[in-house]
Amino acid sequence: LQSYVGFDSITSQIEKKLLKRGFQFNVMVVGQSGLGKSTLINTIFASHLIDSKGRTQPDEPSRQTVEIHSFTETIVENGVKLRLNIVDTPGYGDQVNNENCWEPIIKYIKDQHSSFLRKELTAMRDRYIQDTRIHCCLFFISPTGHSLKPIDIVVLKKLTEVVNVVPVIAKSDSLTIDERIAFKHRIKEEMAFHNIKLYPYASDEDDEQDNALNESIQDLIPFAVVGSEQTIVVDGKTVRGRQNRWGVINVENENHCEFIHLRNFLTRTHLQDLIETTSMIHYESFRSKQLLALKE
Ligand code: GDP
Ligand code: MG
Repeated sequence: LQSYVGFDSITSQIEKKLLKRGFQFNVMVVGQSGLGKSTLINTIFASHLIDSKGRTQPDEPSRQTVEIHSFTETIVENGVKLRLNIVDTPGYGDQVNNENCWEPIIKYIKDQHSSFLRKELTAMRDRYIQDTRIHCCLFFISPTGHSLKPIDIVVLKKLTEVVNVVPVIAKSDSLTIDERIAFKHRIKEEMAFHNIKLYPYASDEDDEQDNALNESIQDLIPFAVVGSEQTIVVDGKTVRGRQNRWGVINVENENHCEFIHLRNFLTRTHLQDLIETTSMIHYESFRSKQLLALKE
């Protein structure tokens, strides 16, 4: 008697479909201006562009981001297509009066949910809805070595309610190793004290492997990063780095900073989970609120 039906091929059927469609991944950067947001994004991108397509970044004069704008780049690796959409936001807290300075950012995130919901609800909806919902918000913390600014706490509270937030210590080359460790510790304490709920969230469905992976990420967060749009030559190898009077920081060296950890987290270990969590937690909560409001 043969009891094998063959549905186990469903994983490869799904895989084939997904590969054909590709993945959409939307990342937003938030933080005070001058913290290296645009630079870090270019670092993540450009290192990719260089090793995947041999292209370099077009020269861009010193720029200050004045409004929310997004740019998309399609990356293909081994037949897997990733459409990466980066949303760059103007620095908040730059004004004398910073009241409600986070509002345009929160509004942008909610607008994406709202437009997704509208598309879902149309009678003749598309078979595939273009996803512009923000899957990950990189939050840049100033490397003061002291503590979070009051305004950071307010903005973090608002953001964590609507999006997966991943904090990073910006320009961490300005902290010594000891300062970095102490600062990380302090930030974690403050986040806990203010009950700021960061990604990754614990879930009942997590198995031991998930728990271990999440704990290793929670240990690393906030990632202490360094960005650079310059390439330098170290031991005959061209790398992304910063040349100082006293030496060189290799952005991709794990002993120098945690850029590689952040990139692995974003592209290798948590990409799918960030997308799924956005849809199942943040979008779902938006959606149920909206639908409830409609009924009333
Ligand atoms: P944004 O306003 O947050 O987008 O900041 P930018 O990316 O425009 O960077 C502001 C300045 O900081 C530029 O001069 C960068 O070269 C510099 N910068 C960016 N990242 C780093 C970093 O990791 N370390 C140091 N020391 N400087 C950085
Ligand atoms: Mg910028």
